[in-house]
Amino acid sequence: MDYDKLPDIPKEFFNSETKQPFSNCLVCECNLMEESQPYAIERAIRHYPEMALKSVVFEYALCAKCISQMENELSSETKMSIMKYFSENLDLSSRPKWQPAEDEDEEPIPFDVSEWIDSCSVKGVPRRELYEYTLCARCIGEKIIPEVVPYMISGLAQDDLVDLFSNKSLGFLDDFTDKHFSGPPEFKELFKGRPILV
Ligand SMILES: [Zn+2]
Repeated sequence: MDYDKLPDIPKEFFNSETKQPFSNCLVCECNLMEESQPYAIERAIRHYPEMALKSVVFEYALCAKCISQMENELSSETKMSIMKYFSENLDLSSRPKWQPAEDEDEEPIPFDVSEWIDSCSVKGVPRRELYEYTLCARCIGEKIIPEVVPYMISGLAQDDLVDLFSNKSLGFLDDFTDKHFSGPPEFKELFKGRPILV
């Protein structure tokens, strides 16, 4: 895929503190704007529909190298169950489409991020009705790579996923949280035991 043809990262995936794309990997701190490897963004949002209020529970970017290192830490049992869950519950054929403008016969399909994240890709529940959800995307430099992600996963689907984690994998995630999230303890507790969906 031609880098220049990829859509710019939409603001839904910006770092909420800088209001800009994430600049560094959470773990190795490499500069994501200069790297030629892709990276994943995950943002967990708490939503209070009655008050039209949103708060960020946690958010980060992880480079491809660190993701594959993390995956090695998860038990093969956990990885298999997660793959199985997604293959049974995520309908790939119903994901939105995106097609860059080429000078061939194919009509370009513009990228509209709301189509991709406005309902839970597993449960189908609309985002405006959810109290808790996670946004995931794959990016490279300042661009987003629309394939299966970006998507939104509701708290409901995340509860299913937590149940699929083996004790060994949950232990690894707890250690990871202790090491990388220094936020308020109540947020840390929320993150603990949450599967990383990238
Ligand atoms: Zn990294």
